[in-house]
Amino acid sequence: MSVSRGIQFFMHPGPTNIPERVRLAMARPAVDFTGPEFVALRDRNLERMKAILKTTKGFVITYAASGNGAWDASVANLFSPGDKVLVPQTGFFADRWAATSRAYGLEVELVPTPERRAVDPEAVARHLAADTKGAIKAVMLIQNETATGIRHPVAEVRAAMNRVGHPALYLVDTISSLASYDFRMDEWGVDLAVSGSQKGFMLPTGLAIVAVSQKALAAHKTARCPRCFFDFADMMRANKDGYFPYTPATTLLRGLRASLDMLLAEGLDNVYARHRRLAEGARLGVAAWGLKLCAKEPRWHSDTVTAACVPAGFNSDDVVKTAYYRYRMSLGVGLSKVAGKVFRIGHIGNINELMILQALAGCEMALRDVGVPVAAGSGVAAAQEHFRATAPKLELGLERKVA
Ligand SMILES: *Cc1c(COP(=O)(O)O)cnc(C)c1O
Repeated sequence: MSVSRGIQFFMHPGPTNIPERVRLAMARPAVDFTGPEFVALRDRNLERMKAILKTTKGFVITYAASGNGAWDASVANLFSPGDKVLVPQTGFFADRWAATSRAYGLEVELVPTPERRAVDPEAVARHLAADTKGAIKAVMLIQNETATGIRHPVAEVRAAMNRVGHPALYLVDTISSLASYDFRMDEWGVDLAVSGSQKGFMLPTGLAIVAVSQKALAAHKTARCPRCFFDFADMMRANKDGYFPYTPATTLLRGLRASLDMLLAEGLDNVYARHRRLAEGARLGVAAWGLKLCAKEPRWHSDTVTAACVPAGFNSDDVVKTAYYRYRMSLGVGLSKVAGKVFRIGHIGNINELMILQALAGCEMALRDVGVPVAAGSGVAAAQEHFRATAPKLELGLERKVA
């Protein structure tokens, strides 16, 4: 028997809420991926993806895969077994990218990062400066560590690499940051960026996105890791004529067109500002509860996911389960090192003020249910006042002009 209980309220850091416009764009009959309609769609998508990535020189590939596929593609295409890569430890997602590298026979040198802090560019520089033989072939950084809600300094790490004059490639994971906060592939000297469809692009899971610089392409030519599905060369050969080496995810690429329409119509700077303002509301809510964020300093706060620490003696999984089973709200659990210690509110993509307030209200109930002493309504009130104070001006009587 189906029961009317409203929506399953979704505040997960990925997958994220899919806008109706994107859903409708995908609710269409199958398309012939060799026909002119699809080839035009593909070309338009790739050009506009470059605008999001802020690259004119790089080229963009999409695979039918989740974000993990983009990691596999990055390693398989750029390196040879035995190559060494430098991975700043940011948390769960850096560990997975490192594990992907090891699976292809690479040696991984880790840059330890103290808990609850962003990667220190100077620490990266020290590792590179000590590498006098040039064994390190790449630095691999997560821009937004989704597990901890910490943003990592992409431009500053590039500056540190330049300072020591190390020739390593620079690979950046933008899966939970691209199209939500600033990323500049060309300006920041990023050689390869990986992303995925189900976070800032507001699509279902299933598109792995890889952007490749000319320098990375040169490395690809001599790289000997085994590859077939993910081979850039096959992809580029087919793409040149408008095709794919195998069936592309046509429906998702249709959805991507709609999502790019929405993002570019809003304007990237406005998209970033919206994420910042909503994230700030979530953070003020957590502060009003008297809880700490995983990120120690404000400059490290992620604008796409807020990871709140529960006080010692409580298990954050209990908060997430209570929210889910009592109040039909999906949150993110803590992953690996922070498992049981943090719960995560995702605010990526298709999100507005009242959704943040709903999330805070649900968290407050779940926290109180498990015994964490937060005052009912405290987080909601703090965020409400922030949203009121920062709302765009509205002159009543002229409101139709604003819409
Ligand atoms: C979600 C995520 C991934 C993994 O993507 P999947 O689509 O789950 O394979 C990788 N890196 C970051 C930073 C992520 O947030």
